[in-house]
Amino acid sequence: MATTENNANGTKYTVVTSESYNKLINANRQWAESKVNEDPDFFKKLAAGQSPEVLWIGCSDSRVPANEVTGTKPGEVFVHRNIANVCVHSDMNLLSVLDYAVNVLKVKHIIVAGHYGCGGVAAAMTHKQFGIIDNWLRHIKDIYRLHSHELDRITDQETKVNRLVELNATEQVYNICKTSIVQNAWNNGQDLHVHGWVIDLKTGLVKDLKVSSNGSENLGYVYALDGIEAAASR
Ligand SMILES: [Zn+2]
Repeated sequence: MATTENNANGTKYTVVTSESYNKLINANRQWAESKVNEDPDFFKKLAAGQSPEVLWIGCSDSRVPANEVTGTKPGEVFVHRNIANVCVHSDMNLLSVLDYAVNVLKVKHIIVAGHYGCGGVAAAMTHKQFGIIDNWLRHIKDIYRLHSHELDRITDQETKVNRLVELNATEQVYNICKTSIVQNAWNNGQDLHVHGWVIDLKTGLVKDLKVSSNGSENLGYVYALDGIEAAASR
């Protein structure tokens, strides 16, 4: 049974008795305490600002947290996550994160990180309806169609899902490279690399897909944009 109390503003709120919730609050206190024990100025430094050199675009899956996978500390990785690490050029959430990371934080690396056994990718390979998420998974079906000649030949379902996981991460790298945000950064000489990774949950290890790019050379004539100055002088 949930009970209610009044907060400092006189507004009623629910007193949570759930163990899984209270565990988080207790663990947070212990974490904050241990950080201060290690370094009394830890939170003073953290609160002073961030200058991460990496933007992580990963899956929302609870098993692939950016900092843990890469052994990085708070302040070192700027993070965006969604189901199946999809990068859509009309997604305002993604574009806002990307713009801030590239133009304000001036990150040097963008990592698109998929993971083997991704439920989103597996769901996109079925014909079932899952609800509103079907519209999101459509982007992965489009990638399947692009690579159907290769994927249709794979008979083992797990192997097929994992290959699409790799192809999805690769295509999302290209999608990031095609954005005006990244193209303008490159046109302006900014030091910016975009990488594709897949995390293997069975080993914890990352596979670099070797699709890294730090320039517009491979965009192709369809997606390449002129620099803003060149376009304005026409
Ligand atoms: Zn996933």
